[in-house]
Order: sequence, then structure tokens, then C-alpha cells
Amino acid sequence: MLQLTKSAELFEKAKKFIPGGVNSPVRAFKSVGGNPIYMAKGSGAYLTDVDGNTYLDYVGSWGPFILGSMHPRITAALEYTLKNIGTSFGTPIEMEIEIAELLCKIVPSLEMVRMVNSGTEATMSAVRLARGYTGRDKIIKFEGCYHGHGDSFLIKAGSGALTLGAPDSPGVTKGTAMDTLNAKYNDIESVKLLVNENKDKVAAIIIEPVAGNTGVIPPQPGFLAALRELCDKEGIVLIFDEVMCGFRVALGGAQSLYGVTPDLTTMGKIIGGGLPVGAFGGKREIMERVAPLGDVYQAGTLSGNPLALTAGLETLKILIEEDPYPELERKAAILEAGFSDNLKKLGLNYVQNRVGSMSCLFFTETPVVNFDTAITADVKKHGKYFHSMLDQGIYLAPSQFEAMFTSYVHTDADLEKTIKANYNALVASGK
Ligand SMILES: *Cc1c(COP(=O)(O)O)cnc(C)c1O
Repeated sequence: MLQLTKSAELFEKAKKFIPGGVNSPVRAFKSVGGNPIYMAKGSGAYLTDVDGNTYLDYVGSWGPFILGSMHPRITAALEYTLKNIGTSFGTPIEMEIEIAELLCKIVPSLEMVRMVNSGTEATMSAVRLARGYTGRDKIIKFEGCYHGHGDSFLIKAGSGALTLGAPDSPGVTKGTAMDTLNAKYNDIESVKLLVNENKDKVAAIIIEPVAGNTGVIPPQPGFLAALRELCDKEGIVLIFDEVMCGFRVALGGAQSLYGVTPDLTTMGKIIGGGLPVGAFGGKREIMERVAPLGDVYQAGTLSGNPLALTAGLETLKILIEEDPYPELERKAAILEAGFSDNLKKLGLNYVQNRVGSMSCLFFTETPVVNFDTAITADVKKHGKYFHSMLDQGIYLAPSQFEAMFTSYVHTDADLEKTIKANYNALVASGK
């Protein structure tokens, strides 16, 4: 058993000053039970907590650490910027052009891009832009897709008993909720129905082209292309929210993997290399509507600051130079095959979904293709599984409905250790 005294003490203290003791809800371990673990240090694929326990990390700061934590080149670049440039000016800097040009080169849909400070900012801004551009109010999103905590997105953004057009969170107005329509992932007919019922009122369809916030759900063949076709026909702006899957499933994101080009793309996580960064961009004609060139307002005091851009830029450069994607695929496939063997040995038929280094083991036998099928998973069993993995030194996301991220720095020995732990944890989770 893990010794977690200090973490428990810190959590008790934190709860006095921070709501729920955390600065982002999933960190509180609510869906798996127990107390969150306070980390003291990250290095490569490993985390060390305040009690001195070490873990193999499959969360990677919820996605950014595709190259592991504290990559020597990123750390060196940050040190250089800190010592020689500064942390922020609130003026344009050359580095902004460098990252914008690079992004436009590697992400197919990008002709212009604006840097922001989080994924949430990126999606909020992209939706405002789509509304300004089309002169329409409504947006279509998909049940179970998460696009940050902007008001418009907190409608069926997660689990729970959900009613049509009702906000998931108090504080989201009924008016806002009414402008957000929810379709079913991988179900083009559900989208067409909403579009027909709201003729010429839909500004944008926003989707995670690989859904990663209800576990992992790949788009079925033809689904994204059908969305593209529908948007073209109806004058709707297609937004790919690639905050999680961008630079993760391929350098150019899901849009390059599946060959479907959205009008706008939102980015985050990997693009900040572990610092707070987001971005949105796309077609020139639409992006030209962003202030000060256009009339759609968007701004940020710390947007494009040198420190954050340094981490992002260095991450992108390494991804381009080293092309880790075949290796990420190989590693994630080893894990998937190892887990499959374990399931078979134990007579379990749980579902695994995976796109590249994003994967999820669902505690259900029902193929997971959308929100409704995802929530057939047995979260109690998952909770036992999670804690058994943790006891064996494997740090997974503390929720059934999150992705497992394999990184470039997980070694084959790490993977083997993980597969062994998975066997024990499956046993511990019960039949
Ligand atoms: C994480 C995430 C966001 C929100 O990004 P933050 O930086 O947490 O605001 C938005 N969309 C998707 C798909 C995400 O995974």
C-alpha cells in the first residue's frame, strides 16, 4: 500500500482555502474515490509525490506531455527565455510570428492563427467568430464532447441525467442553453435533424474529431466527411476542437489523419508544452473578421507571451524533427495488445478504444461509439481498477471518462510493468 500521509494533510488544508481543495474539478478524485495525490516533481514519464512515492505517468498533465515532463530541450529553451528575453511585454514579439507560421505549415486548415492562453479561450473565441461571421446564433455540439468551461459548452458536456437544452451548471442562462443544440457523436442523421429544424440559424458545428473527454471515441469512417459536406451545403462553420487530439494523433492533428479540413481549428495542451497556451485559427476569410483587422472582438493581456510560446515552439520543433508518431503508435499498440491478452486470460470482454497514443479501457462489453454507450461502463469497477493501478505505481487519469496518454519517453520496460499491473488491477476490479 502507498504511504500518502502528506498528500492527505495537504488536501485537508487546501479545502479550507480552495473550493474542493483543487483548481480544476477532476483532480479531486471524486469519480474514483479517495484523496488526490500531491505531486512534488515530474521527470520524463515519472512523477514523484510529496510522500516520496514514484509513479509512471499516463496523464501527462492531461495531454501536453507527449514528450514527457521536463524534456531537456524544452527546459533549456525556457531557461534561455527567462534569462535573456523576459516573461511578458504586452507588445508584439518575433516569436509570435514564428509559431504562427509554423502552425500554418503543419495544420492543414490553418491560414491564420491567434494565440490565447487556454483551450477554453480558444473554443469560446472560435464560436464567437463563427457567430459573427455567419450572423447566426445557434451552435451544434455533440453529447459528451468537452470544449472547456465556456457557458455555451456546458450543455450535456459530461455525464449525469441530462435534459434537452438544460444547462449542466447553474449560472449558465436559459438563453445561452437554448442556443446550444446537442447531436449524437457518430450519428450524422441526428445532426441533419437539428440543422433542418433550425434552418439558417446554425452558426457552427463544433466537434472533437477524436472524442477524448468521454474516454476515447474515434470518429466512424465517413462521419467527419459527412459533417464537412453538411456544413458546406448549409453555410455552417465547421470547427474541429483539436485541443486534445491536435499534435497528438498526428503532427497535423485529426484533420490530417482523417483527411477532413475544418473551417476553424482550436488548439491547446501540447501546443503549450506544459505552459498555459491555446490557439484558434483557420480560413483566412473567417480569421480576417478577428479584431483589430475585423469586428469580432478577442483579446488577452498575456496572449503570446514569450515564456509560454517558448515551451510550445520547442515542443513543435521536436515533434517535427523527431517524428515520434510511429514510435508512439508502436508503444500504444503494445499496451493495447498486452491489456487484450490480460482481458482474455481473465475471461473479460471489456472494450478498448484507441487512436494513436490516446486510449481508453472501458469497463463495459458494449462497443463505445458515443456518450450513451460510454456511460454503460461500470465506474465502480473502474474505481477499483484505478486504485489498484495507483498502488502498483501507475498513475492514470482519475476517471473512467478520460484518455490514457502514452508518451514518447515511456520505455518498453515501463510498458511491460504497466501490462503486469493491468492484470493485477483487472483481478482487483472483480468480475
Ligand atoms: C482540455 C480541453 C479543452 C479545454 O482546455 P483548457 O486549457 O482546459 O481550457 C477544450 N477542448 C478539448 C477537446 C479539451 O480536451
